[in-house]
Amino acid sequence: MYALAPIAYHLGLLTMAENEHNQSPRVWLETYGCQMNIADSQLVTAVLRRAGYATAARPEDADVILLNTCAIREHAEERVLGRLGDLARLKQSRPDLRLGLLGCMAQHNRAALIEKAPWLDLVAGPDSYRRLPEMLGAAGFDPAVDVRLNRAETYGDIAPEYASGVRAYVTAMRGCDKFCAFCVVPYVRGRERSVAPGEILREARKLAERGVREIVLLGQTVNAYRHGATDFAALLGELARVDGIERIRFTSPHPADMTPALIATMAAEPKIQPYLHLPAQSGSDRILAAMERGYTAGEYLELVARLRAAIPGLALSTDIIVGFHGETDEDYRATVGLMRTVGYDSAFTFKYSVREHTRAFRLGDTVSEAEKGRRLAEVIALQEAISLERNRALIGREFPVLVEGPARRGGGMLAGKTPQFKTAVFAGRPAIAPGDTVRVRVASATAHSLTCALA
Ligand code: SF4
Repeated sequence: MYALAPIAYHLGLLTMAENEHNQSPRVWLETYGCQMNIADSQLVTAVLRRAGYATAARPEDADVILLNTCAIREHAEERVLGRLGDLARLKQSRPDLRLGLLGCMAQHNRAALIEKAPWLDLVAGPDSYRRLPEMLGAAGFDPAVDVRLNRAETYGDIAPEYASGVRAYVTAMRGCDKFCAFCVVPYVRGRERSVAPGEILREARKLAERGVREIVLLGQTVNAYRHGATDFAALLGELARVDGIERIRFTSPHPADMTPALIATMAAEPKIQPYLHLPAQSGSDRILAAMERGYTAGEYLELVARLRAAIPGLALSTDIIVGFHGETDEDYRATVGLMRTVGYDSAFTFKYSVREHTRAFRLGDTVSEAEKGRRLAEVIALQEAISLERNRALIGREFPVLVEGPARRGGGMLAGKTPQFKTAVFAGRPAIAPGDTVRVRVASATAHSLTCALA
């Protein structure tokens, strides 16, 4: 997975030893980056709550402020460095405030970070979260640093503090063994390891009892999941037998791990929803080889054809990178061609960002920022047009929608997702509550949502 759209997200949180007012210390946690980071923040919340920490309502009230960070692109790191600058000023007025950096950027930058932000009290990589209470409890002039990667750590025994709602994101596997040339993930999150199926199923049952109706299994290459004799197809089959869970999704799969057994399970099991985020990254064989993605454009298109033949109504989204090292105009046109041929329902599009420690780092950049910007603007506009066309083609069709709650546009409208993970907005009725599934008919569409009426 390259990245999902950056998400600014916070969990008000918790602390351990008492603060100067003899209260439980309060933690404020901010999360940057992908869905995996949001899931990790829910895990960190659980670790700290167990240790006696309490929630701060705002950063100014916190005894501890933690940033859970993303290293996937330079821009993501710059945002966090800017935020650290703001927090340094807060710490100047409150020297007892403890500041910590967690996640991929902590792992990626380590020593350089402490040089850039000497006011940090704690730096912890993604495999060090069990030690957070101990690290926060350590008094000393030097920051507490733990960025050791641990091939066995899955945190499978720790129940995260899930956000409320009808959908929960459950981590199935961590790390990645693919080593795509552009990607820093294997270096900052370590090698693949899978959570035991029993632990995933136990979480799913608890979530179902709490009113969750949809589970999204998470992993950097989630379909590489394997624990003992259980592969990803078998895990999905077992999850589908959990009473109360009505919908199952997963993100992000790698095209090379879309096995015939997995496609057959998706086709046969009605709870597995007909939507797949299938990162392509490029449509040029030359660039795909340089990226070390493990497939050609032709093989990717053949996979898409097999998926569409097996799963009627399948919606597809993808990740696209423009401006990778050596990308010529011809290579870029091949990517545009692939996007047109597949006709994705949506796409996350990025300018290539050179990342230290990756295999492509030494190659550097060959495409100017201006040209990357031009290519990016073009693929964004192309995808908007394709998304709009695909959504308009649904006008008049009916779908079951899992109701999530009030729509952002207000006015008594409710919102939920279709099986294809499209946002449906419709006028509610008093009897309809979050967690219900209702049938709607599409009345109009934009590139990003469907306006519907109850059918
Ligand atoms: S190395 Fe490749 S497969 Fe692994 S997380 Fe990065 S982009 Fe995804």
